[in-house]
Amino acid sequence: MEVIYTPKAWNQIWKSALHVNKKIGLVPTMGALHLGHLDLVKASKKATDLTVVSIFVNPTQFNDPNDFQAYPKTLDDDLLKLKEEGVNYVFVPSTDTIYPEPTSMQLDFGALEKVLEGANRPGHFNGVGIIVSKLFNLIRPHQAFFGQKDLQQVAVIKRLVSDLNFQVDIKTVPTRREEDGLAFSSRNVRLNPSDRKISLVLYQSLNSAKEELFAGESWLNVQKKAQHNFEASPNTTMEYFELVNPSTFEVLQSFDPKNQSSICVAAKIGDVRLIDNLSIVD
Ligand code: AMP
Repeated sequence: MEVIYTPKAWNQIWKSALHVNKKIGLVPTMGALHLGHLDLVKASKKATDLTVVSIFVNPTQFNDPNDFQAYPKTLDDDLLKLKEEGVNYVFVPSTDTIYPEPTSMQLDFGALEKVLEGANRPGHFNGVGIIVSKLFNLIRPHQAFFGQKDLQQVAVIKRLVSDLNFQVDIKTVPTRREEDGLAFSSRNVRLNPSDRKISLVLYQSLNSAKEELFAGESWLNVQKKAQHNFEASPNTTMEYFELVNPSTFEVLQSFDPKNQSSICVAAKIGDVRLIDNLSIVD
């Protein structure tokens, strides 16, 4: 495994890889790697000839400066994990490489960014769109791998690829969960033991809601029950619990088992903001 710090170093490797027709897979991350990230790596290794993992904590996608400051940084540990997975290259660019000067670029994802994460984290998807575009331009992968855990991000990136004609196949990898159901997230390490227990309210509410919907309850009742669940959880503030079309992110007011739908949730446990989602109809 080789760690690459500059676009120049990558360009040499890219040329030789292309020369022998190697298919390149990119797994963009912000480090603090967990088993969810490693599932993306495994998917890339399976589908491509050469896997590049990027590690860059992207300042432009944080709308909360405290969240950016508190974001865990564990590069040495991350590199060990990636080496064990048999990753070929890790791209660790400096902030100056990615942002030679402060960017004022504005991407507009229309309706997709007016709801849920977009509405609750102003500027977040603009920052995501900018960094993902830069990584696609720098690495020029054939395929790129993203987690279903960030479902709205997947929809935004597919839109970005279509709007800008990036020649990249976007692959989605299922959410990896801890044994008790909590979705792996780099932010989980910031939960104290009591909040870690409380955090199960996200996955439990998603599962109960799915059961209730299939038992014939109306979405509005299901949503109300979930809200009560969150209100009854100590130290917890629910931001949203919505039924959506997972491609367009249209917020649905009723459940129809004939249509594709997912439930998305965001909540703060203490000062740690967590998101999760569950597919209801694929
Ligand atoms: P991040 O480092 O948080 O930017 O995440 C990098 C990639 O890993 C994104 O595509 C995430 O959706 C994905 N990811 C994060 N958590 C999980 C998880 N629990 N299961 C699967 N993929 C995940």
